[in-house]
Amino acid sequence: MKQRFSKRSAVAQERQRDFMQRNDVLNGQSRTATDRLLQAPLRERCPLCASPAPDGPDFLHRGAPYFACAECGHIASLNDSARLAPDPDQYEEVYPALDLERRKVRMRDIYLPKLDWVLDVCVSELGIAREELLGREWLEIGCGEGLFLEALKMRGATRFSGLGVDDCMLARSRELLGEDCVRTLREPLGRAVAGSGADIVAAWFVLEHVFDLHDLALDLAGLPSGTLFCFAVPVYGVSAVLESACPGLYPRTLDNRVHTQLFTDRSISHFMKLAGLRGIGEWIFGQDAADMARLLEGSGGESDVCRNVMAGFGRAVDDLQAVLDRHGLADSRHVVAVKE
Ligand SMILES: [Zn+2]
Repeated sequence: MKQRFSKRSAVAQERQRDFMQRNDVLNGQSRTATDRLLQAPLRERCPLCASPAPDGPDFLHRGAPYFACAECGHIASLNDSARLAPDPDQYEEVYPALDLERRKVRMRDIYLPKLDWVLDVCVSELGIAREELLGREWLEIGCGEGLFLEALKMRGATRFSGLGVDDCMLARSRELLGEDCVRTLREPLGRAVAGSGADIVAAWFVLEHVFDLHDLALDLAGLPSGTLFCFAVPVYGVSAVLESACPGLYPRTLDNRVHTQLFTDRSISHFMKLAGLRGIGEWIFGQDAADMARLLEGSGGESDVCRNVMAGFGRAVDDLQAVLDRHGLADSRHVVAVKE
């Protein structure tokens, strides 16, 4: 499998400034979400491998009990978030709409590099030409603001569509790409993907929001051989540990609201095995060092000496993150896989 590490963090640092400014509001929402999560009945099964959930937690995260599945390594809240009443504002509040300038920066620094990486991996590992890949049928599940679909369009793809569940996020992508480009999911996700006829399926930071990953993986196992599946997931890494240590600051990775499960390298492997997927490319990078800067800044003093140290820390963030990435400690994984 072709591995790549790290990427520039300019956008991540801008997001961190936004989190810092909205810290009290976001942290308050996360505390409310934790209270709500604790009211949910306990999970009966691991959302990924469907083995029985344990009776008690392995650890507490911001007041909510979590377990690390002994069978597959997946991390999930002990309380079953799928059995809570829908929270219609959750995505809109956690992911506010971006203005044009921020969209442009994200396109340049996140979505075009992501697409180019997928294309490069497929060219080098499968020998499929870039033009041929762009000519195939693409489906993005959980298409958010539609920026990845727009990146496809910018690179010359003509056959692409998106699928989503959240009305607010879907409205944003329809505004960008037109009504017909994006559909509302009205059936089990795996069935929708299997029935889409797509040659390449993308799921960027979506699987962690899927309540029944086991069913999804089994449905994906029915995809035709050669279908490409590209995805990114958050993993339990340095960021998650930092969030446990700093209760006054917004927990971006595991907020007990939109995020109540995290992957590990082991659970990613388990998911791919269930789905009959073979990894051909992996890109490891994260925002753990940027989170560390935000958490230290939020907890540190107001003195000039402290500010000087933090300014230096800000300049060191990319170097620090590169070390964490190479050691597999980063908060996320991007994977390109092919259906066997
Ligand atoms: Zn499991």
